[in-house]
Amino acid sequence: MCIFCKIVNKEIPAKVVYEDDLVMAFHDINPQAPIHILIIPKEHIPTVNDIEEKHKELIGHIFTVAKTIAKEMGFAEKGYRILINCNKDGGQEIYHIHFHLFAGKPLGPMIC
Ligand code: IMP
Repeated sequence: MCIFCKIVNKEIPAKVVYEDDLVMAFHDINPQAPIHILIIPKEHIPTVNDIEEKHKELIGHIFTVAKTIAKEMGFAEKGYRILINCNKDGGQEIYHIHFHLFAGKPLGPMIC
């Protein structure tokens, strides 16, 4: 079982900021910004390449959750960044799809 599935199953701890039937969001263990949250589907979808038609609502829901977290944590107006890495060249390390949510400072331009 992958590490994020273990977090979903509460087998390993996480600082959870949001949870519902479909989705979980928790603080990244190695934050790259003052606020760095990971939003994951509870379903194990390895990468963006594995998203199927049946996941359309789930993926849309994740963006609604991101906006809700941003509003509740008070950084919606100042702004934030959502980022997904896919596979090796995309910098993906954990093969359970996750949406990075960065905030808490001006993030500047994207650097590749
Ligand atoms: P990726 O490079 O897009 O796959 O990002 C994986 C992210 O997961 C990294 O930012 C890690 O710091 C984070 N991470 C790895 N293990 C844990 C954990 O157990 N709890 C929270 N975040 C984790």
